[in-house]
Amino acid sequence: MKRVLNNRLREFKLASTRWFDSDLAKLRQVVDALNGGGWLDNKDRAALVSFVDLWDRSERNIWKSPFVDEVVSSEALGKRFSLANLQRAWSWKLLPLPNEKSLRIIMNATGFEWIPEQNETTPAGTDLAVVFAGVLITNPLRIRLSGPCERCGRWFIKKQLRREPKTNTCSRQCRDAVRSPKRNKEVRAHQKRHKLELACYWMEKWKELSEREKRKYTDWKDFVETKTETEPIPLSLSLSKQSRDALPLSKKFLTRAVNDKKLKPPREGKTK
Ligand SMILES: [Zn+2]
Repeated sequence: MKRVLNNRLREFKLASTRWFDSDLAKLRQVVDALNGGGWLDNKDRAALVSFVDLWDRSERNIWKSPFVDEVVSSEALGKRFSLANLQRAWSWKLLPLPNEKSLRIIMNATGFEWIPEQNETTPAGTDLAVVFAGVLITNPLRIRLSGPCERCGRWFIKKQLRREPKTNTCSRQCRDAVRSPKRNKEVRAHQKRHKLELACYWMEKWKELSEREKRKYTDWKDFVETKTETEPIPLSLSLSKQSRDALPLSKKFLTRAVNDKKLKPPREGKTK
């Protein structure tokens, strides 16, 4: 088992240090790892997926929560995907550029270049999930990582960047399947359940507010709408991408949910 792992490490090392490996090729390795392509065992793969999920929930902005708190901020130094661990996974090596005939066409002089190499002497460097997280987060094409596909659950690389893709699918086949009426119904049912969960979460928070704080809002619906618009999704809830796209919760949605008896409105405390 250990030998297999060592071989994989070596293969990965080779693949990741060949200077002519394109950014796209490196991103493909990450996608392959996310899809369970043999690099990582299930546990490590799940860890890498949760890292990507953390990044997604921060709208892929490393300065936003929860990413900034859990990875960038120094409070998280002990955690697996902390910035410190991501750094320890690599060391920089000075490597000579290969002396290949084809190179001479694009280059007049050979030389050296700095190459990031897996740092196998630290625990972080042998933790492939951390190594892959580092490969992803430094890849200039990282924005093109997409997934999981709404239908088949696979990760994929977007060909073009459209502003707001209508569906998050890996292929035409998956896109067509997702667009079928039956599937739409399923997605809407999911969205509704997730939206109600989120509404309940913020309604509980509303109950904890003081009367003075409550006065900043027209009513509890206004509070819930504002919070789901401005605050990140609480970590205790796992909302699918489609459900997140259906936010914020509108007052109209909340009123309808109350009328349908799906939500119990918070009882307003009598002012004494
Ligand atoms: Zn798919």
